Amino acid sequence: MQIRQQHAPSYYAASATPAPERPALDEDIEADIVIVGGGFTGVASALSLAERGHSVVLLEANRIGWGASGRNGGQCLGGWSGEGELVKQAGPKAEEFLWNTRYLGNDIVEARIQKYDIKCDYVRGAATVALNARQMKALEEEYADYAEHGLDEVVELADGPALRKHVVTDAYVGGLIDHRGAHCHPLNLVIGEAAAAEKNGVKIFEGTHVTKIEHGPAPVVHTDRGKVTAKYAILAGNAYHALEKQKLSGYMLPAKTYIIATEPLSDALVQELLPTNLAVCDANWVLDYFRLTGDKRLLFGGRCSYSNRDIDDIEGSMTPSMRRVFPQLKKTRVDFSWGGVIGIPLNRVPLIGKVSDNVFYAQGYAGHGVNCGHIVGEMFADAIRGKETGVDLFDATKHFRVPAADAIGGPMLALGMSWYRMRDALGI
Ligand SMILES: Cc1cc2nc3c(=O)[nH]c(=O)nc-3n(C[C@H](O)[C@H](O)[C@H](O)COP(=O)(O)OP(=O)(O)OC[C@H]3O[C@@H](n4cnc5c(N)ncnc54)[C@H](O)[C@@H]3O)c2cc1C
Repeated sequence: MQIRQQHAPSYYAASATPAPERPALDEDIEADIVIVGGGFTGVASALSLAERGHSVVLLEANRIGWGASGRNGGQCLGGWSGEGELVKQAGPKAEEFLWNTRYLGNDIVEARIQKYDIKCDYVRGAATVALNARQMKALEEEYADYAEHGLDEVVELADGPALRKHVVTDAYVGGLIDHRGAHCHPLNLVIGEAAAAEKNGVKIFEGTHVTKIEHGPAPVVHTDRGKVTAKYAILAGNAYHALEKQKLSGYMLPAKTYIIATEPLSDALVQELLPTNLAVCDANWVLDYFRLTGDKRLLFGGRCSYSNRDIDDIEGSMTPSMRRVFPQLKKTRVDFSWGGVIGIPLNRVPLIGKVSDNVFYAQGYAGHGVNCGHIVGEMFADAIRGKETGVDLFDATKHFRVPAADAIGGPMLALGMSWYRMRDALGI
C-alpha cells in the first residue's frame, strides 16, 4: 500500500491555507469523469467540468498540490512553451490558437480568485530580462509580435536604465515588461480551487495511487483499494506518473529544479530590489527566476541539477546565484529551500492529447504550467462536451522520443542541460 506524502517542506507548505486531509478511495464508484492527479491540470479540469454540471472524481496519490503545482516559482506567465516548434509544425492555425489563448489561464485564475474568494497573493506584473544584446534583440522581436497582434499596451520594452526602475541590478541590459503576467502563491491557489471544486460537487480522494487505466467504452481507473468507472478519464499526473507507458514514456525528461526563499525583507530593502513587485525570469535556456512573496521574502529559483540527481545543499548552491543578481542581499538569511520535478518535453511542446477515445492526458508545460494548466482544464471540459478545442492541435504534434527513457533518461538530461548551458554561455 502506498503511503501518502505530505507537501515538500517549502515556504509554500509553511504558509499554506489549512486544508482538510481527504480520505483515500476504498470502494468501487462511478462518475462522469475521473481525474488522475491533483495539481493545476487535474484540479482546474475538475472545477471546469463541475461548473458545467458533470459529476467528477479526482484521485491524488499524495496531497492536493503535492507535485509541481504546489512548489513552483508562482510566476503566471503568458503563452506556452515550445510555441516556435508548434507553429513550425502546424502553421497559421497554431499561431491563431497561441495568440487567442495567451492569457486565458491567467484570466481563469483571476475570475476564480474573485468568484471563490481564493487568498493566494495574486499580483499582476512580470518581466523577462536580457543578459546580453542578443537576448535583448529577441525581446524586441517579441514586442513587435505583440504589437502586430494588437497587444502593444500589454507589454513594454525597457532598456537598461528603464528596467532598473523595476529590477534594481546591473545584471541585465534590458527587458520586456508584461502587465498581464502575474505571480501568486501557487499552493494556496490550487488548495483554494480544490475547495471550490468540492463546493461544486467534486469528490476528492488523497493518498490514492492510481495503478492502471483499463480502456473501453467506459474507462476504469484502478487504485490500490478501489476503482472508478467513468465515461471519460483525464490523466494529469505530469512528471510524477508512470501510467500508459506505451503511449507516453520517453517524450519528457523530468528535470530537478530548485528554489530558495529569504527571510522577510524590510520595506527599504524591497525598494532596493523590486520596487514595482514584478515576477522576473531571465532569457537564458537554463534560467533564473525570482519574485517577492506576499510577506516580502525574495523567492529565487533556477535549474541547477543538470544530472537529474538531487543536490545535497540547495541553499549553498542557489544563494551565490541570488547574490550575483542582488548583491544587496549579502547579509540576508535564507529561510527555506526546496526542489521539484519539472516535466520538459524534448521539443518543448506540451504533451496534450488522447490515449484513447475517452482518455485524455496533459503534461510537460515546462515553466508555463500555472497559465497553461488552467487553459487545458477548459480545453478538456469543452472537448468532453464535443466542442472544438486545441486538444487535436497538440495531439497531432510530432515529438521526439528517447528509447528506453527510464534507463537512460538521467544521462540524456545531463547531456541536454549541458547543451543548453553551452548555448547560454556562447550566447547562441
Ligand atoms: C521548482 C519548479 C518551479 C516552477 N516554476 C514555475 C513557474 O514559476 N511558473 C509556471 O507557470 N510553472 C512553473 N513550473 C511548472 C509548473 O509547476 C507545472 O507545469 C505545473 O504545476 C504542472 O501541473 P500539473 O497539474 O500538470 O502537474 P503536478 O502539479 O506535478 O501534479 C501532478 C499530480 O499528480 C499526482 N500523481 C502522479 N501520478 C499519480 C498516480 N499514479 N495516481 C494518483 N496521482 C498521481 C502527483 O502526486 C501530483 O500531485 C515549475 C515547476 C517546478 C518543479
